[in-house]
Amino acid sequence: MNFKFENIVIIINENLLDIFNKYIQDDDKKKEAGGILTGLIYNDKIEICNCSIPSSYDKRSRYNFVRSKITAQEFLTTRFSISDGREIYLGEWHTHPEQIPTPSYCDVLNFRKTINTNKFYSDLFFMIIVGTKGLYIAIYNKKGKICYESLLELSKLRATS
Ligand SMILES: [Zn+2]
Repeated sequence: MNFKFENIVIIINENLLDIFNKYIQDDDKKKEAGGILTGLIYNDKIEICNCSIPSSYDKRSRYNFVRSKITAQEFLTTRFSISDGREIYLGEWHTHPEQIPTPSYCDVLNFRKTINTNKFYSDLFFMIIVGTKGLYIAIYNKKGKICYESLLELSKLRATS
């Protein structure tokens, strides 16, 4: 799936959509899920290639997801070394038990804090929220300010990629 932000093409790999699909909260028992996003940066495009999946160290409930720092760091370190230092942290994803997802106050606060207090190599960071019918995407800059927001229909994503 591709979309354009200013002069940059943003690519979200199909394997991420497959993973999101697995964790969509489409029945009452499913808890929130999430993880970090990693990818590659080029001059004119950003490719979000991989995402971590929930682990037993995360705190998960129907309406909340707090990922473990340890497993996220492990995932990041692994991707970084496999790619010879090219694949880096690009943001966070998590699910919501609602059709059209919007970030909660805490989601925004936590995301801003994460990108403000860490030394990451990217200038842009992505927040993805997976609802049962839609995908919310926001791009933040290093100061934690939203510079792009969009909502995409899940059923149309594969057709456009
Ligand atoms: Zn949330």
